[in-house]
Amino acid sequence: MTDSVKQKISYPKEAWRFAKSVVKGHVVTFKNLFRKKSTLQYPEVRWELPEGYRGLPALPIDPKTGADKCIGCGACARACPVQIIEVKAHMGEDKKRVVDEFSLFAGRCIFCGLCAEACPTHALVMSKEYELAEFTREEAAYNRERLNRLGGTIAGQQDSGKEVS
Ligand code: SF4
Ligand code: SF4
Repeated sequence: MTDSVKQKISYPKEAWRFAKSVVKGHVVTFKNLFRKKSTLQYPEVRWELPEGYRGLPALPIDPKTGADKCIGCGACARACPVQIIEVKAHMGEDKKRVVDEFSLFAGRCIFCGLCAEACPTHALVMSKEYELAEFTREEAAYNRERLNRLGGTIAGQQDSGKEVS
């Protein structure tokens, strides 16, 4: 038989230790009752996002034209380190690029903001959207319309140092 098994358990000592730990726990709880709360009743209550917070990139609508300012140059796609932006465009009759497709896969975005930095027309901006959970991978793919809707909510705000409108 080992020494630890042979050792006699002192029940009064154990009971004292138990009582002490319960009291200690209650003291901590009681103290924290009067401290300033650091949690929020999310999602009913939201925290104020800091200036320059980077959520998902978006394409806000320019109120003057009713469309976003994307010219289909593809600079954002080239700047994206994880290659999640795809831009398809063709040359129009007036020698201006016409955007056929714009897509961004939010599932792999690292919110670095390089795409917005690279955009020559300030069409792409960093929104404050952070609730990006989806049930399927397909739902994490944002097309131009979805990015317009997302951008529409931040029109007039500032992205990474650039004026949106
Ligand atoms: S924020 Fe960064 S990772 Fe996300 S789309 Fe822009 S460049 Fe790519
Ligand atoms: S969002 Fe900006 S950088 Fe990207 S294709 Fe459009 S104009 Fe070019």
